[in-house]
Amino acid sequence: MNLRIGVIGTGAIGEDHIRRITNVITGARVVALSDLNVNRAKNLAKKYDVKFYVTGEEVIEAAEVDAVVIASWDPTHAQYVAASIKAGKFVLCEKPLATSKEDCKRIVEAELAGGKQLVQVGFMRRFDSGYRQLKACIESGEIGNPLMLHCVHRNPTPGPKHTTEMSIKNSVIHEIDVLRWLLGEDFKTAQVLLPKSSSLAENGLRDPQIVLLETQSGVRIDIESFVSCQYGYDVQCEVVGETGTIRLPDPAAVVMRSHGKLSYEIFSDWSDRFVEAYNIEFQQWVDGVKLGVVAGPTAWDGYAACITADACTEAREKGTIVPITMPQCSAFYGR
Ligand code: NAP
Repeated sequence: MNLRIGVIGTGAIGEDHIRRITNVITGARVVALSDLNVNRAKNLAKKYDVKFYVTGEEVIEAAEVDAVVIASWDPTHAQYVAASIKAGKFVLCEKPLATSKEDCKRIVEAELAGGKQLVQVGFMRRFDSGYRQLKACIESGEIGNPLMLHCVHRNPTPGPKHTTEMSIKNSVIHEIDVLRWLLGEDFKTAQVLLPKSSSLAENGLRDPQIVLLETQSGVRIDIESFVSCQYGYDVQCEVVGETGTIRLPDPAAVVMRSHGKLSYEIFSDWSDRFVEAYNIEFQQWVDGVKLGVVAGPTAWDGYAACITADACTEAREKGTIVPITMPQCSAFYGR
């Protein structure tokens, strides 16, 4: 039987997820949706023949909705996740889980109090074949213990509401989660360096930024965040180990020799670069929900990422190295 899904937020990624659930994955269909932008949402409701609700809460409470996808603006995530837990419904919330560690903590506490894991966070890089190959290689011991990681996260241009703070809390949070997953450990310090800002970064945005993280075992990580790099959407990751290095592969692309140049295309945004990862993420989420389990990053992972992102924000504001204190993870989350 199809899992009946309600979608809250039908902007860029919300619409993409509705298309994915309807046309790409199996075992689920969208039955309800909601968005502040009523015209947009109503048009999509008509296109996909699903019910429009005025508020996200109505979607969550609707009897015909078995599970919820949250793809609205970041500051709204916490309220919709809390309402989904209260309604006892599985929920896949786009990253970040919430915009503060305090809100994430409340979500974790509510889930613990309910006694059942219901929340998955949309950290889809964990489902990307390149990152999975990196993880398998690290775990095989082929390059010895990882010592350093060099990462790059570039977007051609920021969205209209993008702020200096969001470069970490909305964007680098992907690296924070996937590196924590790759290395199997939490972080102990954060620092943020602000190089000369690009003249193309508008409205006072500080861009690029360099995030320096240190893991609990002492692995050193540098992440370049550059959201107005102009040339494309570019994600890189190199792991330096004791006996070798490994590098995240670029997605397969045709290599062209033409006009005296050797070239291949660079994607322009996340939706193409990680399309397979989103598809796998959603298929596994649906399959897991039908079995009554969360098959991906949990509320705890969302909380841990937010604690780290908050420390980075503090480090940027104070210009100092900030220690990261991770609370003890409950056995409920399997750690
Ligand atoms: P977007 O295009 O701006 O869409 C967000 C939509 O949510 C807009 O239509 C917005 O309406 C609506 N909205 C705002 N407040 C709402 C509320 N209280 N209830 C219902 N809808 C509300 O943004 P997006 O790029 O799709 O991003 C949406 C979320 O997905 C963000 O949290 C983002 O971090 C996440 N995301 C994740 C990835 C990933 O790689 N996993 C990629 C992209 C985005 P208005 O336009 O009227 O404000």
